[in-house]
Amino acid sequence: MFRSGCGATLNNEGKQVVAPGEKKKFTYLGERTFEGAFVDFAVFAARGVKPGPTLRVTSAIHGDEVNSVEIARRVFAGVDAQALAGTLIVLPAVNSSGFRTANRYLPDRRDLNRSFPGSANGSLASILAKAEFSGVIRDCTHLIDLHTGSNLRTNYPQIRVDIEHPGALDMARSFGVGIIVPGGGPQGSLRREALDAGVVSIIYEAGPPYIFVEDEIERGTYGVRNVMIHLGMVVSKVQPEQSKILGKSHWIRVPRGQGGIYIPLVKLGDVVTEGQLLGTVTDPVTDQANEIRATDAGLVVGMALSQVVLSGYGLFHVGEVK
Ligand SMILES: [Zn+2]
Repeated sequence: MFRSGCGATLNNEGKQVVAPGEKKKFTYLGERTFEGAFVDFAVFAARGVKPGPTLRVTSAIHGDEVNSVEIARRVFAGVDAQALAGTLIVLPAVNSSGFRTANRYLPDRRDLNRSFPGSANGSLASILAKAEFSGVIRDCTHLIDLHTGSNLRTNYPQIRVDIEHPGALDMARSFGVGIIVPGGGPQGSLRREALDAGVVSIIYEAGPPYIFVEDEIERGTYGVRNVMIHLGMVVSKVQPEQSKILGKSHWIRVPRGQGGIYIPLVKLGDVVTEGQLLGTVTDPVTDQANEIRATDAGLVVGMALSQVVLSGYGLFHVGEVK
């Protein structure tokens, strides 16, 4: 189904052919229809000269999570197919319409990352999920799905993985930057459905949505490269460090009836002590300023950016480092 692309080399079935030692960029469907423009996505493929794993790197399943796109682009640009073992396929903006318009969701207002493995006759999100899952993901051996914090939240660099799966945990450890946050992921998410289909899968999340953060882009690019070293796709004399696992973690939320103007007083990656003042929420009608304090000691691995907040809104994700 890889049907189009400039200077495409197509086989008899109309599929793209990438020769050993070659890098290619093309579009998956290339349909010139009204709806086709929403479903189509770019594919970057690098085929190595030696046998090895087939790694997929996906980004911007949530279209506003733009750091993921730049990480994916740099990973592909930095690969030398002549020195590669196996195949790297990068989907640099799966939700391409969302990436162009800074929109987390698809034009049908659905979350693509709850739509896998998808259906050929479902909603737009489901059709796109099916095209990606069946056409590009299912036949790979490993997957890294790149994300950032959602909406007005930011995340400390973290690898999310089902730690019950030894191969996936090894892959997460090999990322070498950030902290491992255990969890299976929600039903319909790419990482969970891919793992169930036998593809060793992890998510990497770092920074906020909407804006490019150079440090996070560099870290993410370095981490994906470390995974490629771990998988034997790239040779390196340097053995990267292993990422550590986050222990028990919890969210600190806006207490009932205390919504208002939220100003954080700590940063991502800060180690906080029990009872430490983390931020304030001020009611602009009563002028009552409410203090948000840490309930336990730990590392701040996720937090809301400064904004108007209502009762129950998650402000700080704090966990212990093992
Ligand atoms: Zn996301």
